[in-house]
Amino acid sequence: MYRDTIAAISTPLGEGGIGIVRLSGAEALSIVNAVFPGKLSDHRLSHGHIVDPRTGERADEVLVSFMAAPRTYTREDVVEINCHGGPLPLQRILQLALRHGARLANPGEFTLRAFLNGRIDLAQAESVLDVIRSRTDASLRLAVQGLDGHLSSAIRNLREPLLSALAYLTARIDFPEDEIPPQDVGQPLNEALEKLRELIATADAGMVYRFGVKTAIVGRPNVGKSSLLNRLLREDRSIVTPVPGTTRDTIEEVANIKGVPFVLVDTAGIIHSKDVVESLGVERSRKAIERADLVLTVIDVSQPMTEADREIVALVGDKAGLVVANKCDLAPQAKLDGLGRETVYTSALSGEGLSRLEDKMVKLALGGKVVASDAPMVNNPRHKDALERAALSLDQALQDLKAGTPDDFVTIHLAASLSALGEITGETVHEDLLETIFANFCIGK
Ligand code: GDP
Repeated sequence: MYRDTIAAISTPLGEGGIGIVRLSGAEALSIVNAVFPGKLSDHRLSHGHIVDPRTGERADEVLVSFMAAPRTYTREDVVEINCHGGPLPLQRILQLALRHGARLANPGEFTLRAFLNGRIDLAQAESVLDVIRSRTDASLRLAVQGLDGHLSSAIRNLREPLLSALAYLTARIDFPEDEIPPQDVGQPLNEALEKLRELIATADAGMVYRFGVKTAIVGRPNVGKSSLLNRLLREDRSIVTPVPGTTRDTIEEVANIKGVPFVLVDTAGIIHSKDVVESLGVERSRKAIERADLVLTVIDVSQPMTEADREIVALVGDKAGLVVANKCDLAPQAKLDGLGRETVYTSALSGEGLSRLEDKMVKLALGGKVVASDAPMVNNPRHKDALERAALSLDQALQDLKAGTPDDFVTIHLAASLSALGEITGETVHEDLLETIFANFCIGK
């Protein structure tokens, strides 16, 4: 079924000094041999040229690595051709590979093969994408743990007591007259349910690390929004990653605060909106607030509160967030009581109060949870959903056990719980779900 040989450009087109064309499959070696006159040996790098055998023309000077199955990314024969990074050499080499029998890989197909060939499980395969898209050191650490199979091994441990209980109860159903030594299944199942719930409880924080917290900074002109933004993006504690925005072709800025990625929403729109007609930027603020998970409402405390300030506070409504009482280095004028919001006094000028603001932002984002750095963490909505279904079925199994319901019913719930757990690692998974998951990958991964 997966016998054909796939090829793709595995690096971004037209960026960087080198690029890689990757092939995987039984024909990978013979295809490359047809266009690379040099000698290839297993897990070694060979230098030479890719040559079009039809014209004898050299496509590029390259380094080729041949890796024989099974010690490869896909567990199939893999060849990687390192060439110059321009789009032309990459595309010519890919075309040559396709002409000699390779098929263009689908998005994520290399990783899909690694999964189908049993090198990694589904949760690990999904982590590949997380590693690529990590925005902070903490998200990367989580993603790498996922790739190592951290969550997968937690799931396997959870499955064991369920399997053992299922085997015991099935034996009791199938051989009612036989002397099957009694076994306490309730206790281990209860423990498993507790662990399952602990795992589910990590999901909110896990997803914050993975997806980031969409944060809007709103306030009327000149209160210090851009100064504050610059403070939050401060070089020494942030990796500013250009992430293509989802709604427009904007670049989102990501403030890395204690490992939590705060994705600043439409900051350009609000912060640089100083035209008279739209001086308040109400419409923009409203949209940004709508899209945000967290809103920082900035007020200039060196001036009395204005109608505009109040209007913005009203716009924010009950959205999660903080009032940032900025310019606290100046003589205070604004009366901030009655805003019904947690308020942090800052000076974007001197930096005063900034670390308190950041602490509060992180606390709000993670819901006050502190997560042990080596504990497995759920960072994927698909996994969370499957875990919740597994917990529900396991809970039903336990209730039936307690009520003395016939074993058949208990086993049905246990099997459902196991099946939900299996969806995470990919033991029980439908083809169409695989398609959806891998469609998010880029071609060449
Ligand atoms: P924005 O229009 O809301 O983005 O405001 P800016 O960040 O451009 O700041 C407007 C002016 O206020 C600038 O001259 C800043 O230097 C000044 N400013 C910003 N924050 C503070 C602060 O905390 N204290 C003082 N004294 N001035 C500030």
